[in-house]
Amino acid sequence: MPAGCDEFDPNALTVEQARARILEALPRLHGEEWLALRSALGRVLAHAVHSPVDVPAYANSAMDGYAVRAEDLGHPPVRLTLAGTAAAGHPYAGTVQSGQCVRIMTGAKLPDGADAVVMQEHVQREGEFVTMAHSVPAGENVRAAGGDVARGAEVLGRGHTLRPADLGLIASLGIGEVAVRRRPRVAFFSTGDELRQIGQTLADGQIYDSNRYTLHGMLQRVGVDLLDMGVVRDTPQAVEAAFAAAREVADVVITTGGVSVGDADYVKDTLARLGKVDFWKIAMKPGRPLAFGLLSEDTAFFGLPGNPVSAMATFYQFVQPALKRLAGAADALPLTLRAVCVEPLRKTPGRVDFQRGILGRDGDGRLTVRSTGPQGSHVLHSMTLADCFIVLPREWGNVAAGTEVEVQPFAALI
Ligand code: AMP
Ligand code: MG
Repeated sequence: MPAGCDEFDPNALTVEQARARILEALPRLHGEEWLALRSALGRVLAHAVHSPVDVPAYANSAMDGYAVRAEDLGHPPVRLTLAGTAAAGHPYAGTVQSGQCVRIMTGAKLPDGADAVVMQEHVQREGEFVTMAHSVPAGENVRAAGGDVARGAEVLGRGHTLRPADLGLIASLGIGEVAVRRRPRVAFFSTGDELRQIGQTLADGQIYDSNRYTLHGMLQRVGVDLLDMGVVRDTPQAVEAAFAAAREVADVVITTGGVSVGDADYVKDTLARLGKVDFWKIAMKPGRPLAFGLLSEDTAFFGLPGNPVSAMATFYQFVQPALKRLAGAADALPLTLRAVCVEPLRKTPGRVDFQRGILGRDGDGRLTVRSTGPQGSHVLHSMTLADCFIVLPREWGNVAAGTEVEVQPFAALI
């Protein structure tokens, strides 16, 4: 049998099909909570935020200069009398009369009577008199009241994920608390008789459970409530008991390992017995054996492959978008860029490859990518060296140096 002839599996779903089916099948997540602004970073708005005020609240100066009545400057040069000063936080109390001007600083309230600001570089000042060399239109260098946000306008939509600028924007409206969606509760565990915990001694044929640490980190980054349920033995009874316990407490249950067709792989059968399996084969590498389904009406299930790189690749392509959708966030596909591959890559046609790459620039400033080296799905080191996935289409074979390829930068994904 030629190498890779099992690569074309007619029953395998494409990555896009699988992602669409997952997003379609996800249960709805209800519940919201009120949070102080500083605690709301990264959370998803449960309702749109409307402005209770005009921003800016009053017309103010965009420059250091002189507040004037634009109509006074119709026939320059014009000599105006300096009537006073307006600084940020210290408005001019009077009204600017015809023939007058007021010294004004950036952000200071535009005095009554004035309708424009002349830059200080464009005037000549002699004591109490200021000579203007040019005319200006009304509104020049003035930030209008409500110019950024009108009172009542929607400033942030429902489903928006709060970033630092959003916290500042909401604070600028005088709002100190926001309603955000409840975070998904995610229970996760590893399956495998070979797995031991850190601190235990390894007997022959045993390894430390690393997936639970990777998963912990990936889930923490997404921002969910975590429930680490430890390691589960490879027996149908143990897997079933763990599933039953997890679905009682979690919106999403994630396992690693035990989803292949080996003798000790009980995840898929148990899922079929307790709930509903949606599929379990995806035309991607690494990560083909992946189970998705419902453990109950309101509990989604992801059975990720046991191999550490496969678990990560499938998490980022399927679980992360699903968790974001559950959290109420607007859908965002992983950002992809084009880069020139500077060395040949080995690939077998039949599945989409998510190879691990390192980004760079060539002499012309073009984005380049090279391989991290050995691409086995057990080589977790390839993920720590990488700063992107190199996404190679299903039908492609080996890649020649100089080929333009698609990359998913970790900076926008992980
Ligand atoms: P499985 O999907 O259970 O057949 O596991 C595939 C490979 O991944 C095997 O070599 C396992 O030993 C390894 N593996 C499974 N679970 C873990 C884990 N939690 N940490 C590290 N390696 C694992
Ligand atoms: Mg296993």
